[in-house]
Amino acid sequence: MSPTSVIHPTVYTPSALLQAFLNVLTEAIIPLTAKGVSLGSKVFGAAVLRASDLSLVIAATNDEATCPLWHGEVNCIRRFYEIPKEKRGVGAEECIFLSTHEPCAMCLSSLAWSGFRQIYFLFSYDDTRDVFAIPHDIDILTSVFHPPSSSPIPSDRLYNRQNKFFNIYSIEGLVDQVGDDAVKQDMLVRIANVKKVYNGLAEKYSERKGEKEIPLA
Ligand SMILES: [Zn+2]
Repeated sequence: MSPTSVIHPTVYTPSALLQAFLNVLTEAIIPLTAKGVSLGSKVFGAAVLRASDLSLVIAATNDEATCPLWHGEVNCIRRFYEIPKEKRGVGAEECIFLSTHEPCAMCLSSLAWSGFRQIYFLFSYDDTRDVFAIPHDIDILTSVFHPPSSSPIPSDRLYNRQNKFFNIYSIEGLVDQVGDDAVKQDMLVRIANVKKVYNGLAEKYSERKGEKEIPLA
């Protein structure tokens, strides 16, 4: 399938996308993540939605307690490809990839390698570092991929959010595009509630940090 035949996100209103993402977060990703955190893994999760009707194909969560490479996104990509094509009915290019957190360097590359072209995330790199006390996304991109620099690189410029492989957007950017004030308010409340749940999960993870063999805990 050529990139031009991909269903563009603008066929949906920002509020339709937000509704779908928030439902998938609360109903599919968070329950998996709560279980993962109880086993010592991090709070990062992901899901794949069909672009044609925003239905869920698969959700997954971080499984670093098993292997440090099983980030939520990589785990989700793996599970997506484990479903036979005839059963899932869609290829990666016909889907929207939802990541709870802005994907790390490994996951960005994994998304490019696996053919996903539309990606949304809730928490930014700054959130991951400041709210979740996990600085490795910014640290790896800065230390491995950028030449040494005396001035810090803004975290939204550490890679190209729009590139030939995919476009990646912030979910909160969608809220800014909602025209109806009541709907916008409702979305902000729902996002705040989801964030509260993640704060609780992050606390649980940090209490058990170091118990599992996770090099970048
Ligand atoms: Zn990752």
